[in-house]
Amino acid sequence: MTAPSSPNGSGSPASRRRTFAIISHPDAGKTTLTEKLLLFGGAIQLAGEVRAKQGRRQTSSDWMAIERQRGISVVTSVMTFEYGGCVFNLLDTPGHEDFSEDTYRTLTAVDSAIMVIDGAKGVEDRTRKLVEVCRLRDIPIITFVNKMDRESRDPFELMDDVEKALALDTVPMTWPIGVGREFAGTYDLVHNHVRRIDRDEEPIKVNGPEAAIFDEMLPVGTEAWRESALLAKEGAKPFDLDAYREGHMTPVYFGSALRTFGVQDLIDALIAYAPAPRAQVAETRTVLADEAKMSGFVFKIQANMDPNHRDRIAFLRVCSGKLARGMKAKLVRTGKPMPLNAPQFFFAKDRQLAEEAYAGDIVGIPNHGTLRIGDTLTDGEDIVFKGVPSFAPEQLRRVKLKDAMKAKKLREALQQMGEEGVVQLFVPHDGSPAIVGVVGALQLDVLKERLAAEYTLPVDFDPCQFSVCRWITSDDPAKLNAFVESHGSSMARDLDGAPVYMASSAFSLRYEEERAPGITFSAIKDYQ
Ligand code: GDP
Repeated sequence: MTAPSSPNGSGSPASRRRTFAIISHPDAGKTTLTEKLLLFGGAIQLAGEVRAKQGRRQTSSDWMAIERQRGISVVTSVMTFEYGGCVFNLLDTPGHEDFSEDTYRTLTAVDSAIMVIDGAKGVEDRTRKLVEVCRLRDIPIITFVNKMDRESRDPFELMDDVEKALALDTVPMTWPIGVGREFAGTYDLVHNHVRRIDRDEEPIKVNGPEAAIFDEMLPVGTEAWRESALLAKEGAKPFDLDAYREGHMTPVYFGSALRTFGVQDLIDALIAYAPAPRAQVAETRTVLADEAKMSGFVFKIQANMDPNHRDRIAFLRVCSGKLARGMKAKLVRTGKPMPLNAPQFFFAKDRQLAEEAYAGDIVGIPNHGTLRIGDTLTDGEDIVFKGVPSFAPEQLRRVKLKDAMKAKKLREALQQMGEEGVVQLFVPHDGSPAIVGVVGALQLDVLKERLAAEYTLPVDFDPCQFSVCRWITSDDPAKLNAFVESHGSSMARDLDGAPVYMASSAFSLRYEEERAPGITFSAIKDYQ
């Protein structure tokens, strides 16, 4: 069995990193939990700063106008804080369901996730989708059942819901003592201790559910509670660190983010159980976090963080070694050197020059379009990381240019937007204008806004005859060629030149799939 991680600040810098995301359905309490986690790390003085960001007020990481209008975040940011000898990198994923592509890519840069579930609601849609993405990379998940201070569903029922809806084994690590107004604290089933919500004190050691303290904490229904706690303790599968780390089993904690209750359990669990930076699979070999040489990949590009400077920040997940400011990295795609003169760390409100960063850290690299999503930077070795995926868009549109003289400029701008991951770009074989694809409609608004603001290209979108597309591959190049030839008017190339088949409906896609043995149609593609 894998040894739990040591929380005492010893070990290599990589082994002390915990890089994670919080996934949830909107309103489950992700923002509240983020604030409380940051408070623990002293990263923010006042709870509320994260909310201020959401609260449509101006903050140092500025938004685009569209975000302000809509009052939602299309920015995925990273927050770093330290606690208990560990450095935590919390990658924020936008809560709005429209902008999911960015969220998906962010999940490729984390080693684990906390899943927040509203105790009254159980597993909701968006959580289900996000867990599917975690599963693509076997990302281990810790579950936090939130809002126990409100009327909630039965804890067993909630765990059952997780098991059934998400196909994850659950293990209760804590057990709620009462619920709603009677919520008095949690009983830690692993360490046999009690935390009280009304007292800010060290947990109290007990012998088991029969302890007298429970009569005091839960005057009504104590015996029934004892039975349920005993069942949770004795009846559940034991926590298996390997199964958790492989993404099959999720430890479950109960609490209330609003009341800052259960948050300490989560931090302790991250320190003790969550994996340190994982080995990353590259095309030629697997790269271990503790290797001496620096390597990393770009999973996100953020433009206009500072509107006065029009800068673009590429977010690099360091995968191995040490990134030192001033070093010359190699951009493997072009083979060219890339000096890292101003790598940056992000905190809840600020950014600051990163003098050095280690595996698991996320650094922002300012650049003017040199870096694109999926790029690998190294100390010199030619490795290319796999696994920053592209998801088949759910909407396809043609870009209608109001001024036909600017067609060339539009092509260049779309290429750039495609490389930044704002939209996906498809160039049809038949020479017709480019098609853009998005997972969420908001991406189209962002594209429109940016083309107007940065390239003075006012555009509109026309519907296009296609509604779905798939990347196609085959073990037999002749078969692939034959398919491409015979479907010329439905074929396009993506940014990397990979063939994409477009269909007018899911029905016609299925029809073609059935008639094309030997061709694989795929809805997910790794960036090259
Ligand atoms: P997000 O959309 O997932 O980021 O959710 P928020 O953190 O913004 O929370 C949504 C709402 O639920 C807000 O009104 C919070 O104050 C409330 N909330 C969050 N956590 C708790 C909790 O533990 N108990 C109660 N009663 N309300 C909570």
